[in-house]
Amino acid sequence: MFDTILIANRGEIACRVIDTCRRLGVRTVAVHSDVDAQARHVEMADVAVSLGGASPAESYLRGDAIIAAAQATGAQAIHPGYGFLSENPDFVDAVEAAGLVFIGPSAKAIRAMGLKDAAKALMAEAGVPVVPGYQGDDQSPELLAAESEKIGYPVLIKAVAGGGGKGMRLVEAPMGFADALASAQSEARTAFGNPHVLIEKYITSPRHIEVQVFGDGTKAVHLFERDCSLQRRHQKVIEEAPAPGMTPEMREAMGQAAVRAAEAIGYKGAGTVEFIVDGSDGLRPDGFWFMEMNTRLQVEHPVTEAITGVDLVEWQLRVAAGEPLPVAQADLSITGHSFEARLYAEDVPAGFLPATGRLAHLSFPEGARADTGVRTGDVISPHYDPMIAKVIVHGSTREIALRKLRRALADTQVAGTVTNLAFLGALARHEGFSRGAVDTGLIGRDLDALVAMPAPDLAAIVQAGLALLGLDRSPGALDGFALWTPLAQDVTLSVNDEAVTCKVVTRGPGEIDVKVNGTLVQARHGANGWRFDGQPARPVFVEAGVATVFGAPTLVVLRVDPLDVEAGAGASGDLVEAPMPGLVRQVFVSVGDHVSRGDRLAILEAMKMEHSLLAARDGVVAEVMAEAGSQVEAGAVLIRLEEEAT
Ligand code: ADP
Ligand code: ADP
Ligand code: MG
Repeated sequence: MFDTILIANRGEIACRVIDTCRRLGVRTVAVHSDVDAQARHVEMADVAVSLGGASPAESYLRGDAIIAAAQATGAQAIHPGYGFLSENPDFVDAVEAAGLVFIGPSAKAIRAMGLKDAAKALMAEAGVPVVPGYQGDDQSPELLAAESEKIGYPVLIKAVAGGGGKGMRLVEAPMGFADALASAQSEARTAFGNPHVLIEKYITSPRHIEVQVFGDGTKAVHLFERDCSLQRRHQKVIEEAPAPGMTPEMREAMGQAAVRAAEAIGYKGAGTVEFIVDGSDGLRPDGFWFMEMNTRLQVEHPVTEAITGVDLVEWQLRVAAGEPLPVAQADLSITGHSFEARLYAEDVPAGFLPATGRLAHLSFPEGARADTGVRTGDVISPHYDPMIAKVIVHGSTREIALRKLRRALADTQVAGTVTNLAFLGALARHEGFSRGAVDTGLIGRDLDALVAMPAPDLAAIVQAGLALLGLDRSPGALDGFALWTPLAQDVTLSVNDEAVTCKVVTRGPGEIDVKVNGTLVQARHGANGWRFDGQPARPVFVEAGVATVFGAPTLVVLRVDPLDVEAGAGASGDLVEAPMPGLVRQVFVSVGDHVSRGDRLAILEAMKMEHSLLAARDGVVAEVMAEAGSQVEAGAVLIRLEEEAT
């Protein structure tokens, strides 16, 4: 076994590899970009080497710098994770030329599978069923159109160098072919520098079922299948193992085909053979076809680990270090069922736009595996994939595992950025998915229902309002002797971009009545904490005028009365602070300006709304730290007023 390895990656996968290294007593070297200098994977590793820069091209894709870092730190091997350099055969050659071990397959095996057309031809030769289609060199539009007629519509045009669903077009009928071809080719040229395409029969009611394989360079075993049919625009969202409805015959046939595929290219290490399956009429041993092989550890490998008990990274290290396969096929079996959900910082209602922001709070429930590369306080930056974590559950049956998934998603707490948590929760409760009736079109068909925002729950709004007013603490013994006149105050909140007024009346210790836009909600404190109209309080996180009430779904509530000095830090009213992270839109004052209480000093755009920042008192502007167009953190001081003469 190696004494030290370098991990040429970042985020959750780097952390996940380090976890196993620690368990095996292997020293780890992290590499990082400038923006990742304080990242979790850097903190976890024994040694860290800076690559500089921010973009992948300036950092994690710099093969030479990574190899130099390995040599300088005494690492004997490099684990590539997934993405970045993991499927780059030139990098593998360079690693080996430097006398280091690449933890993964040979450059030759990666090249054999690198282009979809060559891979399909190779697999057909090895007796693996491939999707019927055309994968030749002649790329003239006339010939490709004629081939499509032969295959029969609908057809799928795929970039041979494709990945991540790019350069792929579904064509339903001949008249759409020419346009689809042109756009697939141009996308492929831009994304991969290679406009070549292949044409495939489009499988209707398709299911994506893939087989995890593991080879030692000669022999291979399979670790059963994963179903990755829950996809949005060809991107996996929730994965599971085993596949619902899988029969022993079909599993055997798919497993054998995958092993044949791996052995045909002398595969070493962890790999995945992806198949498209015709799900229109149940699963049949003759109803699956090779799509492509991913010559790396896959994002969703944890579901396989959960049902087999195998640590795939441990196997990767052992095989790379020259050990034979740890077990034989007959020693492998499936226990229970597992799901993985990919938690992203993304704005689902805005069309799944990647989001950024500081994770003001992040926590995962017990009873689920959370693979993550970030902690509370970390920033989801625009430089990399906005994945926050993978949440993985295991149960003895599919039904139990799915229930655990729903629970784990409901108990996952993220504040500070929008996430796809509610969407994942809706998927986990989807009726068809619950029955195991999955296909790659499920999300697309039911998208509207899956992204619908339920009307915000009044109890949660009230809870947020009280938390923002600091009234949600337990009533102390001394509170009893406060004035017995009911104390009334108003607070204006913003909930899903709508203004909501709460009229709050404190009737006594642990007894608060709140009218939300006219509807009364009673907050009462008892032995088990607060209840809101009888509903128990949910976990809540408050920072800088924003309350995040966790649970299904998470509710974000902003306090929008900037005149209230309690909301900002400077109780004296000297400081105007950003109540939440956002973009400074406009600044209306300069140093020396005289302002009056209530004057608008600046506009901050945050959470899709504009917030006016007002002067809390009369005074003179002493300092302006805000600049229009700049991004600011919650609590950042934007404007300072001169101290008042006393
Ligand atoms: P997997 O197939 O491993 O489950 P994905 O298909 O989501 O996971 O991603 C496969 C690999 O492709 C990952 O290494 C990921 O970093 C990369 N990838 C995914 N989507 C894109 C994209 N849109 N552009 C570039 N790379 C991508
Ligand atoms: P990528 O390299 O982008 O991952 P794949 O060939 O693996 O490309 O295909 C991505 C997804 O596209 C699959 O998971 C599946 O949902 C869909 N797909 C691919 N080929 C077919 C096909 N022949 N028929 C129907 N759907 C397909
Ligand atoms: Mg694929």
